[in-house]
Amino acid sequence: MNKIKIPKATAKRLPLYYRYLIILNEEGKAKVSSTELSEAVQVDSASIRRDFSYFGALGKRGYGYDVKSLLSFFKKILNQDTLTNVALVGVGNLGRALLNYNFKRSNNIRISCAFDINKEITGRILSGVPVYDMSDLKQQISDQQISIAILTVPSSAAQRTTDDMVEAGIKGIMNFTPIRLSAPASVRVQNVDLATELQTLIYFLDSDKAKDSDL
Ligand code: ATP
Repeated sequence: MNKIKIPKATAKRLPLYYRYLIILNEEGKAKVSSTELSEAVQVDSASIRRDFSYFGALGKRGYGYDVKSLLSFFKKILNQDTLTNVALVGVGNLGRALLNYNFKRSNNIRISCAFDINKEITGRILSGVPVYDMSDLKQQISDQQISIAILTVPSSAAQRTTDDMVEAGIKGIMNFTPIRLSAPASVRVQNVDLATELQTLIYFLDSDKAKDSDL
């Protein structure tokens, strides 16, 4: 597949579009306008048109976008027709919740192995996923050809664990710890900081409230 160079902000919005298109397709809708998409995914329609323009002229004026062809196009871009196995490192409360969740709504991502240092849980199967000792990391990552790992260890172990994962060949880390990890430029780190996201929401609600009381 030819790789298309698209801006990061656009790439981030692709899964949103994709999920909504799946719903439209299931409802039997053949076309969708950028205004309709905009309302559904909460992205302004100018950005949607710009995003889509990176993929060539997929929309027709006055007609909107063809749902099926957009869907198959995004499917390829997002690599949705291949199964991606992901590792999870650190099977604490959050790790267990993610194991249990295991992206059931997606047919093509799954956590296929988990790692921990706690002997009480290694060697067991939790929510259908085997939990290995950290000493098996390198072997499993290589056997299962895994390149992505979810990191849910305590902050104190985050960097050390990252170093181990990088050494084992991991190329993408979804970091649930609040630590800013250092990793080689060839490794991508996606930070997921739930507390910060909530703080942002609280901030917006508070400023909405302040605006309302100014009126
Ligand atoms: P959470 O932050 O998910 O709520 P928790 O409070 O249940 O976690 P933590 O102390 O944050 O527990 O640890 C999360 C998990 O990470 C535990 O299962 C722990 O055994 C594991 N862990 C700790 N250090 C390491 C390490 N160096 N490598 C792998 N796993 C580790």
